[in-house]
Amino acid sequence: MEVLKLEKVSKFYTSKTSVVMGLSNVNLSFSVGEFVAITGESGSGKSTLAHILGGIIPYESGELYINGSPTSHYDASDWERYRRDLISFISQSYGVLVGNTVLENVEAALRFGGLDKDETRKRALEILKEVDLLHIKSRKAGKLSSGQKQRLSIARALAKPSRILIADEPTGNLDAENSEKIIELLHKASKDRLVIIITHEFSEVENYATRRIILSDASVVTDAPINQGKEKESSADVTEARKTPHTGVKKASKDKKSLAPYVTKLTVKSRPVFSAIICIFLAITSLITFVFLGTFTVSLDDSNTKIYDSSAFLNGDSSRLVVLKNDGTAFTESDFNNMLDVSYVKDAEEWGSIYDTNYYYREDLDYRTQQVIEEGKNNNSYGSSEFFVVDVVTFLYDGLYMSTVPKVGRDIIEDGRAPVGMYEVLSADPEHKVGDKVTVHIRNRNNWVQGSYITLNLTVVGTTDYGHGLYFSDKMANFIDTSCFFTEPGDVLFIPYKEGVFEIAQSKDEITEFNETDVFFPGNEADNPRDIGNKKYFNQFEQGTISLKYTAIFNCNNKKVYVVHENVYDAYMPQKYSNQATVHIKDYSYTDRVIADLTEKGYTVFSPFRLGAVTEDEELSSERTVTLAICLAAFALTTVLQLILLKAMFNSISIHYKLMSNIGLTSHVAYWSIGLMFLIYTLISEVIGFGIVLILNAIGLKYVVDIFKYLDVGTIIVLILVHFAICTISFLSVRKSVKKQVFATEKADEDLDFTQMEEVEAND
Ligand code: ADP
Ligand code: MG
Repeated sequence: MEVLKLEKVSKFYTSKTSVVMGLSNVNLSFSVGEFVAITGESGSGKSTLAHILGGIIPYESGELYINGSPTSHYDASDWERYRRDLISFISQSYGVLVGNTVLENVEAALRFGGLDKDETRKRALEILKEVDLLHIKSRKAGKLSSGQKQRLSIARALAKPSRILIADEPTGNLDAENSEKIIELLHKASKDRLVIIITHEFSEVENYATRRIILSDASVVTDAPINQGKEKESSADVTEARKTPHTGVKKASKDKKSLAPYVTKLTVKSRPVFSAIICIFLAITSLITFVFLGTFTVSLDDSNTKIYDSSAFLNGDSSRLVVLKNDGTAFTESDFNNMLDVSYVKDAEEWGSIYDTNYYYREDLDYRTQQVIEEGKNNNSYGSSEFFVVDVVTFLYDGLYMSTVPKVGRDIIEDGRAPVGMYEVLSADPEHKVGDKVTVHIRNRNNWVQGSYITLNLTVVGTTDYGHGLYFSDKMANFIDTSCFFTEPGDVLFIPYKEGVFEIAQSKDEITEFNETDVFFPGNEADNPRDIGNKKYFNQFEQGTISLKYTAIFNCNNKKVYVVHENVYDAYMPQKYSNQATVHIKDYSYTDRVIADLTEKGYTVFSPFRLGAVTEDEELSSERTVTLAICLAAFALTTVLQLILLKAMFNSISIHYKLMSNIGLTSHVAYWSIGLMFLIYTLISEVIGFGIVLILNAIGLKYVVDIFKYLDVGTIIVLILVHFAICTISFLSVRKSVKKQVFATEKADEDLDFTQMEEVEAND
């Protein structure tokens, strides 16, 4: 039965400079049961013929018939199936998987041939016994002697239930004793197969061969049957052989992806160092991706490169967020608990509006005399509001901003109690103790006449070591906030009388009692006391008109502030609730997350620091641009390096895939296996890389901690996915390159020199 037939087949090897004739117009046909010896001088085309018959290299002209069917329409996958189902190829260089064990080598061929796991093991052990390698089945194939390697390669070929066995100088590297064993094994195989053996030592096959072909200069010069008497025995088996299924290229069902994990395991096992290097390298790239893209993300927020402009919010504390209720109602206890539930919220205060109000209290300095006077102008500048405004404003910038005791999140009281009364404070000044009096100058820039302030003598009712300066009462906050309503020129600001709080500049008599009809006017010693004792009318636009008796002048340059009886204050000053709370976050880095969470809970939130950070600081912003560029460049470089390195590494083991493809691995399975390998490597490396990040974060490496603080879980996942994506791109590129090297269909890539395989494989 004719299984292979060559009709006028020619093969040329083309290089840039020359064309070499590999085979020229060869006509041959082969049948099952034959044991064909092909001889000829070196370079005569023996290997070329063997490789064409084995479906390993293409030919240029003529036709190869397989079981009578032409093959010129075959595509790469048809050739793959042909090699897998019909051909066992044995080369001079053994082609064993050196990184795998003897048993694994044989099993691979069986698995690729479609046998299941159990069947494979059984059959492999049988065959190893046949070739006398069973005792060293667990040895790495690379550690075998030449004779053992060739026996292994034959065992593998025999394991495969293919019809055709082609051996290209299988004894080329062996001594006489080993050679004979090999030839005997091949002869045994020829009972139910076509065996084609190429040799330069015809004498070793002389007694077995049924036919001898001699090649010279790429052409067949002799083709004659030999040993015809002996042949009878084997030709009887031909009929038997015909019944066997492996006689054609079937549309295979064996291209199963399920082999991919097996191939992956085989490859990883044979290349432990290779795998470790890739994992470490990918772990490094995942670390680099995290650090550089993390820094990039952090640097996208340019608030830190801007100079804070206090025109809207005086207090540019970056950890402060302003929270408004969407319905404008009063903040309740549940609102505060709601806010505190949000991660990274440190505390919350009810009166957010007073945060942009300056105050000043140091006893040893009178800020009114600390002015910086512009040169050439009148030093006696109290009369000139222009100077006063400029200087006081400048001075108070270095001062403090008002705040109240946090409603939730922190119990800050060390000694005493929280301030309740209007003129009580809690002090963080270490020099203060409970019961102390403190003179405080308050300036509400947004709502009071420019440059004006109120001086009050307040009582320290509690101390704290949290924060700095003073904490004011809700009543004081209400007073400061209420003033916002007084925008009409005629309106004045009432403040309730309490003994000892105000400094009296002038009065007719000593004040022993303050009546509901009394009022103090703002001013100083220089003011005309003429009016004292007269009635004055006040138009409080919502509450109506009230007539009060002018009893004294108190020290105050804010000419809109009048001291009235507490009852009058309560009746004529609108009592409000706070509609603007303050939330403190643990760090500015958490701004976006906290804003998002609070917004989701139904609040309107903004960062005064961000709103105020408007003017670019050129130096900082160019530094930031450099940082952004470095991060992107480093990331891009990493990506490119990863691509190049992985490609190079996989090229270095492409021979492994080539050898597997020779024993039946299809490209389909190889691709799935490479994909699976990448998935495993990527996941392992990301666990390592991210583990290192977590450790560095725990140790407190500032650079990592800063990134970590800033990024939310979502962003971190995105960064990991970015690395994953890069790995996927690398994988696709590696796959392409393996395809090109191992499973190529284009001519140029196919003239792979098989004799060098073993060396490359061994060096790996
Ligand atoms: P043999 O196996 O009989 O020594 P080959 O089939 O290997 O001969 O080679 C036949 C001719 O083709 C020789 O001239 C050889 O130099 C040439 N040849 C073989 N393989 C290649 C190749 N990959 N590229 C270029 N020329 C080749
Ligand atoms: Mg050769």
